[in-house]
Amino acid sequence: MANEHLNLFSLENSDYIYADYNATFPVSDNVKESILEVLSKQVLNPSSLHRKGQEARRILQDARDNIRSAIGVPSNKEIVFTSGATEANSLVMKGIAGFQHVISAVEHPSILNSACNPHIIPVNQGGIVDLLALERILSELKGNRVIVSVMMANNETGVVQPVKEIAEIAHKFETIYHTDAAQSVGKIKVNMEDLGMDLLTLSAHKFGGIAGSGVLIFNKDLVIEPIIVGGGQEKGLRGGTENIVAIAGLSAALQSISNLLSKMDEIKELRDQLECELLNLASGIKIFGKNSKRLPNTSLIYMPGVKSDVQLMHFDLNNIAVSNGSACSSGKVEPSHVLLAMGATREQAECSIRVSIGPQTKPQDIRKIVDCWYNIYEKNILGK
Ligand code: PMP
Repeated sequence: MANEHLNLFSLENSDYIYADYNATFPVSDNVKESILEVLSKQVLNPSSLHRKGQEARRILQDARDNIRSAIGVPSNKEIVFTSGATEANSLVMKGIAGFQHVISAVEHPSILNSACNPHIIPVNQGGIVDLLALERILSELKGNRVIVSVMMANNETGVVQPVKEIAEIAHKFETIYHTDAAQSVGKIKVNMEDLGMDLLTLSAHKFGGIAGSGVLIFNKDLVIEPIIVGGGQEKGLRGGTENIVAIAGLSAALQSISNLLSKMDEIKELRDQLECELLNLASGIKIFGKNSKRLPNTSLIYMPGVKSDVQLMHFDLNNIAVSNGSACSSGKVEPSHVLLAMGATREQAECSIRVSIGPQTKPQDIRKIVDCWYNIYEKNILGK
């Protein structure tokens, strides 16, 4: 494994196991370097007309070029920088007027909560959207302008949607297709040209950049009204001075994407080993989306009868960071809408944790996660 992703936590605590990569992917060394370079050069406001402004504009342009080549953005698409995937998703749902919204039942809250009276596409027990239901909804909406928004990979389960087929169906009905690819970039191959979506959302902190930086990519001929109005930055689509430091980090992170992808087979082997060991250890356990195409690093694991926060605390006391599904929704009382949409019971949804690993994860970390999980199981279920 390349050095840039190693020992990220070593200064803090060499025993610490970070298995929450889907919440935020640790910042890699080349990202830190590029950020420090921008800071030390005092690159300032890209809207300024002087030399320092030109320097900043060059960083923006380089970042757009890197995005285009990293994920195959066709030339008919525009790229706008936002404060993250949440804002990019909100811009799609709130900034494109006069469209009906068709979204999947497992979307991130930034889509679910910004869509207007959405038509919901159900998912099967494996978490995959029902393509026949999508066709049915779109044929009922014939004559309307429609945006279909189905995420590429789910943040909680890692289940990957058949986005190419969804794009084909959306286009057959002359609608436009947006995908939230926040969790996909860096974990699976993403190529907009090959996959055919019209709009795509990215989030820098999910692939090694820093939080507070994202991107919306969209067809140039699409009329989008800004939801943040200001001094006309980003072609008037997103007011406010661009966060040049974070954008430089996003750009540097994208340059490491192929390096990251090359490690995913190894990461998948570790994830599969974790699941195999757990399934052999305990009865009643369930891995959500196990038989579906999934991100190679993600596992959502149900332990019967033990609430996820109890599990989480035990892991934390043992220096292991895992999550109770979606980091954005931790603290809320309701069980995951994603699991409920997949037909899970309320109890299953309340007793599941997400393990999401990455390039820094070692085989011995998997051993420790398995041991810790079994320890919780023994204590709470077997009463030992
Ligand atoms: N979409 C998905 C699928 C996500 O996983 C997340 C982050 N949990 C977001 C959107 C929101 O991203 P951000 O933190 O950049 O706003």
